[in-house]
Formats: sequence, structure tokens, C-alpha cells
Amino acid sequence: MTTAYLDHAATTPMRPEAVAAMLPFLTERFGNPSGSHSVARSARAALDEAREVVAAALGAKPGQGVLTGGGTEADNLAICGVHAALGGKVVCSAAEHHAVLHATRAVGGEVVPVDSTGVVDMDALAAALTPDTRLVSVMLANNETGVVTPLQEVVAAVRERSPEALVHTDAVQAFPWLDVATEAAGADLVAVSAHKFGGPKGVGALVVRDRVALRPILHGGGQERDRRSGTHNVAGIVAMAAAARVTVEGRAETVARVGGLRDRLADGLLASVEGALETGPRERKIAGNCHLRFPGVEAEALLLLVDQAGVCASAGSACASGAMEPSHVLLAMGLSREEASSGVRLSLGWPSTSAEVDQALTVLPKAVAHLRG
Ligand code: PLP
Repeated sequence: MTTAYLDHAATTPMRPEAVAAMLPFLTERFGNPSGSHSVARSARAALDEAREVVAAALGAKPGQGVLTGGGTEADNLAICGVHAALGGKVVCSAAEHHAVLHATRAVGGEVVPVDSTGVVDMDALAAALTPDTRLVSVMLANNETGVVTPLQEVVAAVRERSPEALVHTDAVQAFPWLDVATEAAGADLVAVSAHKFGGPKGVGALVVRDRVALRPILHGGGQERDRRSGTHNVAGIVAMAAAARVTVEGRAETVARVGGLRDRLADGLLASVEGALETGPRERKIAGNCHLRFPGVEAEALLLLVDQAGVCASAGSACASGAMEPSHVLLAMGLSREEASSGVRLSLGWPSTSAEVDQALTVLPKAVAHLRG
């Protein structure tokens, strides 16, 4: 049986260039880049070069990038690190990834509602921008619906109402599809994660612009100019840089090609499954995201069934204490629990093929009919 992998928003395969780039650092160039002898310096040189590539891909200077152990850590460093340095109030949107949402709650922050498309409600945000607000965190693209936030508007509102506040954006899902260097240019902190764009898991970066006050959340050897202690994952960081380079170079082509596949998948399912609904306005979504609802069908049951036919997809639900919880993003958008439970995310990525779309177009309508029948 062939597999149609439609869960690239969860993780995407590594780019061959990234695998090739990391191998020497797992073998002969194994040095600790914090050392001073020749083996250490060899690792240090690669680390410095990778830092430059990643920073450039994010529109930052090399000294503005903090290399982290993934997207969750980058988000936590932004929120907990700024809060520790500045105090005051942290504000985030209700559709944020749990890495931001739970970190914001952990520092006693305020969660602002989103509109029916999942974008932060600008009136509610304005109301939350009080004199004591010090950090606002709004994601660039949502991991479930793929809907893109008009970040410039958010930044403008923050600058006007809370001039002392910083803006953080979680660009983890955006990076494969959007020119983050431009789109997030107004943000003070920007988080990305390598495994969403063809790098390895457990590696990420946080852009920290010059005016940002940040306290570390990991204490130790003082790496990353004292902002993130811990021996560098040199192989992972070098691979992240290689993946970032290929992603940026091929982004326009990937968006056009994969966006076409996504449109064929979404349009095909909307036409062949009665009552199927698309989540969020397509023209405001990243190119790889197809999020649909099939009324009357439990997403969990559907995903099990299509998995047996080789189609790998997911729902935004999290498994807490054994019970499947409907997606907090869909609930925040105003859907009922029942509506939210019928939501399925089919996410495409750089290696997605037309054959995978064909397989999904064959398998999903049958599975929905079976469950409804
Ligand atoms: N933020 C968003 C929007 C994500 O989609 C994810 C991963 O699913 C993360 C943060 C966490 O990144 P990581 O898996 O690297 O910890």
C-alpha cells in the first residue's frame, strides 16, 4: 500500500541537503564549539556560518539570533524571558499554539479572543493594550487552519497604544511558505522550528532584536551570549541552516506548485463530500494547509479509517487524560464542540505529490460515506 503523507504541519521530512550537511558533524567534526583547540574551532566555524544563514533567512543580523532546542523553547524563551526582564502584562491570542498559550498563562498573562477566521480580534486586542502591557504574542500562520495574521496591523496597534510593549510572533508554521524576513520585519521577537521546514527535530531559533530585554530561561555555561546555555547541537544547527537556505531559495516555486495541489485537494473534497466545509478563507491561508470539516463525522474515527487506507492526516485535538479534546483553535473561532470535532487537517509540504492528492481524493469520500452510513 502506498502512503499519502498529509501531515507536514506536524513534521516534514528532512531535505537531503540538510541530511548531507549534518553528517560530518556527527562524525569527524564532532568538536564542542565552545572549546579553543582545532577540533573545537572546526565546529565553531560551521556554527558561525550556520548562524549567519539562519539569521539572513529571518531578516536578522547574526547577533540577533538565539539558537534553541526547537520552536517550543523559542516561544518560551520569548515569553518567559521578556516577562522575567520587564515584568508587566503578556498578551496573546486564543488561537496560539500551546507553546505560546501555556507560557502566557504561566506568567499570568491575558488571552485575547479571535474572530471567526481565527485572527486576533483587533478591538479586543486594543482593549488589552493597557499601560502595563510589555509583550504581545501573535502567530504569523496558524498551525491548524493555516490562516495568516496581518502582523503589520498588530504591530501598528501595539506601537500606538502600548509603545513600551514588544511584539513576538511564532513563525513556526509560516516559514516554509511566507517570506518571514519581510512579513515579520516589524516584530521584536520571531520564533522558528527546523523540523517544519526540512531540518531536524529539536532545533530552532529565536530572533531577538537589539532593543529587546531578555533574561535566559536556561542557566549554565553562558552560550548564545548568555541567552541560552547548553552545548550547541552543531549537527542540528548546521542542518537547520541548510534547510533554511533551500527553503528560501525554492519558496516561490514550492508555494506555487504545492498551492496548486492543495487547491485540487480542497476543491475535490468539497465537491465530492456532501456538506463538507472549508475552515478559514483560502486566500488568507498558507499554501500547504487544507482544513475541512465533515459534518456528522468524528474526525478521530475518520483519521483511523483513512490511515488504514494509507492516508496520514491529523486533527487539532490533543489527547488529555485519555479523552480527545476538540481543538482550542476551532472553539476559539466560535465553533461548537461537535463542529470542532469534525475538523480534519490535511497539510502538504515540499515533497508532496499529485499521486498523494489522488489517493486522498479516493480514500476520504469513501471513508466519510462509510462513517455516515
Ligand atoms: N508553534 C507552532 C505554531 C507549531 O506548529 C509548533 C509545532 O507544532 C510549535 C510552535 C512547537 O515547535 P517544536 O515542535 O519545534 O517544539
